[in-house]
Amino acid sequence: MASPSLYWLRNDLRLTDNAALTAAAAQGPVIFLYVLDDETPGDRRLGGASRWWLHKSLEALSAKVPLVLRRGAADKVIAAMLKESGATSVHFTRDYAPWSGDLERRVKVVAETAGASCHRYGGFLLHEPEAIRNGSGEPYKVYTPFSKACFAAGEPKPLKPVPKFRAYDGQLKSDTLADWTLLPTKPDWAKGMAAHWTPGEAGAAQRLRDFIADGLEFYADERDRPDRDVTSRLSPYLRFGEISPAQCWHAVRAAQVAAGGKLDRAAEKFLKEVLWREFSYHLLHHWPTLPEKPFRPEFAAFPWSENAKALSAWQKGRTGYPIVDAGMRELWVTGIMHNRVRMIAASFLIKDLLIPWQEGERWFWDTLVDADIGNNAASWQWVAGCGADAAPYFRIFNPVLQGEKFDPAGAYVKKWLPELAHLPDEFVHRPWEAPALVLKAAGVELGKNYPHPVVDHGKARDRALEAFKVIKGSA
Ligand SMILES: Cc1cc2nc3c(=O)[nH]c(=O)nc-3n(C[C@H](O)[C@H](O)[C@H](O)COP(=O)(O)OP(=O)(O)OC[C@H]3O[C@@H](n4cnc5c(N)ncnc54)[C@H](O)[C@@H]3O)c2cc1C
Repeated sequence: MASPSLYWLRNDLRLTDNAALTAAAAQGPVIFLYVLDDETPGDRRLGGASRWWLHKSLEALSAKVPLVLRRGAADKVIAAMLKESGATSVHFTRDYAPWSGDLERRVKVVAETAGASCHRYGGFLLHEPEAIRNGSGEPYKVYTPFSKACFAAGEPKPLKPVPKFRAYDGQLKSDTLADWTLLPTKPDWAKGMAAHWTPGEAGAAQRLRDFIADGLEFYADERDRPDRDVTSRLSPYLRFGEISPAQCWHAVRAAQVAAGGKLDRAAEKFLKEVLWREFSYHLLHHWPTLPEKPFRPEFAAFPWSENAKALSAWQKGRTGYPIVDAGMRELWVTGIMHNRVRMIAASFLIKDLLIPWQEGERWFWDTLVDADIGNNAASWQWVAGCGADAAPYFRIFNPVLQGEKFDPAGAYVKKWLPELAHLPDEFVHRPWEAPALVLKAAGVELGKNYPHPVVDHGKARDRALEAFKVIKGSA
């Protein structure tokens, strides 16, 4: 009988289009190993919302394949597993987090020490970071030429079907999911997430179908509108690999072809967003300090301010700026926030409150279900003006005008801030300007059931530009 092959599941929690699983299945009976490794990433262990998602995703996967769950440093767990099972090969999907390269090298060593072969596959990205380089052979630092190079590299490979596999049926000890206490209990802050999401491969496939049926045609024109539900909401599924970017790409291309030209603009726009994810990961691979340090080093001298009270108001969605607060409350309830609102809320933290972007990045890391070491870091740096190809620092979002432009009737704000639901549309993004009688009729008591603005945006903007002067000479 063929000896077992060890398939180490990581951010690839799916059976379809999975090169590592396909290869493991061809080799022998498959051991499906997932390791909860809180040691290797150091203080970058999974945040709370991600832990909730992981539990649900593994639960869904365990209905399809017998998972062996172990906890500890992945290389040590794999060494032990090889010894216990006699597996003669290890297969896994490549990961790009700053600690992953070393970990993968250690796994190779333990596999070879045990006399097993070790195989790494792509799939989390469309293109490996080594494959997309500029004319001088350097990594791209600017998105547009990067995306052109990706398009020029051609369409992703055809998808791999779910392979025929035989699961290893020998006795191997496994933790239970409950042992890992990934779900919150007291308080159970994840109720809103449970109502909102179906983690797992089937949920991902359904989400993609729904997006193509209902969202794609509006995507190019309305993707910036938080009051319209037209974006794909695929980010957490991509984050955990419950769907591959190639699956998204091919499905959208197929819809584009079927529509005979009507979806060309929408499809291009969507694929370009998928390439922003790609860009973030390529940056992260080449500049692994991206989650902690500014890409543009001159920003290390930026005169940030410490303001625990303002940070807490921002986290709780109590800044007094409705579009910011609605976003932060959406995040808390559902684990997600619309991209446009992420930009506004991040800009507010960094520029209106002068709080370091790293504080916001950490909060998102803990609370987003799509918290993603590449996208989160690159996006925060983009807003802060210190990233590669970032928005210039001096372009400061006005939260009132942004709200009025992208949520014109205030529907998004009213959904997440029910205390403002009865305000007339003209005041919903600037309640402090509403006459006392209007506030009273709407049941709004500023300073009581909704806060006064924590800062005056005009003054905060001047202060931010003043602070920027400290590094401007070098920026
Ligand atoms: C401050 C800030 C923090 C962010 N943190 C994260 C994060 O932790 N994880 C994360 O996946 N995205 C992050 N983003 C990017 C973006 O907001 C989300 O990817 C997007 O909102 C997900 O919604 P969607 O799946 O409906 O996107 P769609 O518009 O449907 O896009 C499809 C896919 O493309 C990718 N994508 C879209 N926009 C971006 C973008 N601007 N940058 C990189 N990839 C993108 C995502 O994988 C997304 O699922 C952040 C953006 C900002 C401004």
